[in-house]
Amino acid sequence: MTFLLIGINERVKQEFSSYEDTDMLLGRVALEHKRMYRVWTDAGELLCEVSGKFAFEAVSREDYPAVGDWVVIKQRETGKGTIHALLPRISKFSRKTAGKTTEEQIIAANVDTVLIVNSLNEDLNLRRIERYLLLTWESGANPVIVLSKADLCDDIKAKAASVEEIALGVPVIAVSAENESGIDGLKAYLQPGKTVALLGSSGVGKSTLTNRLVGQEKQKVQEIRESDDKGRHTTTHRELILMDNGCILIDTPGMRELQLWESSDAIEETFTDIDKLGQECKFRDCKHEDEPGCAVRRAIGNGTLTEDRFISYKKLQRELAFLERKIDKRAHAEEKKRWKNISKNIKNKSK
Ligand code: GDP
Ligand code: ZN
Repeated sequence: MTFLLIGINERVKQEFSSYEDTDMLLGRVALEHKRMYRVWTDAGELLCEVSGKFAFEAVSREDYPAVGDWVVIKQRETGKGTIHALLPRISKFSRKTAGKTTEEQIIAANVDTVLIVNSLNEDLNLRRIERYLLLTWESGANPVIVLSKADLCDDIKAKAASVEEIALGVPVIAVSAENESGIDGLKAYLQPGKTVALLGSSGVGKSTLTNRLVGQEKQKVQEIRESDDKGRHTTTHRELILMDNGCILIDTPGMRELQLWESSDAIEETFTDIDKLGQECKFRDCKHEDEPGCAVRRAIGNGTLTEDRFISYKKLQRELAFLERKIDKRAHAEEKKRWKNISKNIKNKSK
């Protein structure tokens, strides 16, 4: 079995190099259940627990392995192993859990690219796309916006343009799982060794797209193999899904809950009323705090606008500002890289 060839990259090899001369194995967590881990390794799939030392040193929940994590393992017997270390994460999706203290629960680690899926047959909700972009930037992964069900839409260009406007520099790709249009354009992001996750509201076509990308046959095969080596029938699939070309799709319940959270939240709301009021403020750059002649404050004062609604408006504004800063930062980093390459070229030429 060559599980290890799948999803490994130079960074991970580098991180693991200090263990190379030991009897430790490199593995990737494909499923977690109550601190038991199914881990892909060169020796096949091992059922693992963390070592006593690991547990002793773990301070909080986020120190434990999660789906997508690269781990260092010692095989104990056939099919079983112990996790001794966790390699650094390049990205993580997490959820804050409220308990005695707020804890961070990792729901997927080391995602390279997030496909933010939105359906073209319903009203495109740009605010919702902004939220998903924010979530993705915060995770450390790169977003790609997928406009699905292109076969049901006859003004794809206009809709794609409106999305491009709010998502500066983020690729926007229209696809149809029905007639397969646009799927090729997605393949650029589904490279061997890359880990990809799909985000988007329920019903936008994520499962259909996943099946198109992975191939239903492939999933069936994985399930059959599993029932064989365990000697009993089970259809639980791994939360990492292998594509034929060695790209990995991450599909965890936690990612699906992120989608629930997203749709139960008040994202549907747009704030055109507040924007309109704002145009009547005395100052153009009014922050609606305590400026004189503020139409928004006046509306809150006379009860035509609720304080609550104004607060969620402010919250969204803050998030968008954060998003813009992130985009700026990325643009800046890209610019820096470009200049580095240019100066390298100049140096090489002058040699
Ligand atoms: P999910 O909840 O995001 O996983 O969405 P599903 O993949 O379950 O799709 C929801 C519905 O949309 C199903 O009835 C699919 O058959 C349909 N659907 C998905 N992709 C397409 C597409 O490209 N074109 C059309 N016409 N229907 C689609
Ligand atoms: Zn104002």
